[in-house]
Amino acid sequence: MPDLDNRGLIVACPSCGQKNRVGFTVREARCGACKVVLPAVAEPVEVPDADAFDALVGAATRPVVVDFWAPWCSPCRMVAPELARVAAANAGRFLVVKVNTDAVPELGDRFGIRSIPTMAVFRGGKEIGRTAGAMPAQQIEAFVARTVAAA
Ligand SMILES: [Zn+2]
Repeated sequence: MPDLDNRGLIVACPSCGQKNRVGFTVREARCGACKVVLPAVAEPVEVPDADAFDALVGAATRPVVVDFWAPWCSPCRMVAPELARVAAANAGRFLVVKVNTDAVPELGDRFGIRSIPTMAVFRGGKEIGRTAGAMPAQQIEAFVARTVAAA
């Protein structure tokens, strides 16, 4: 899983293994060591803290789909592989991130998350829609498409 901090995503090069920091606004990044083009992030990314979240959603040039979850929540665990499918199928179109509301309670509080899983779409630094409850990948994709189209 790629790491995230308040300056970008940290992506391991599939060719040489070098870890590269890719800024949030970069559309095509190359590996600093071997210069191959790094593939778009194709997995959900865990948000480590509110700083990184704010930096990401404030700068991202593509929609960011946020899954608010917690480790003790069994519907959250059910939806995790569905989100992984969505992230893989939509690499380069939108980014899927996960906010563990136990680890980063500040974000759950700020967005008034009452039940988990809750999935929200952010674009241009703002939330443009949300839905609650576990659902299959196709339904998550339909929710994101509908939300982005309506915003
Ligand atoms: Zn490389």
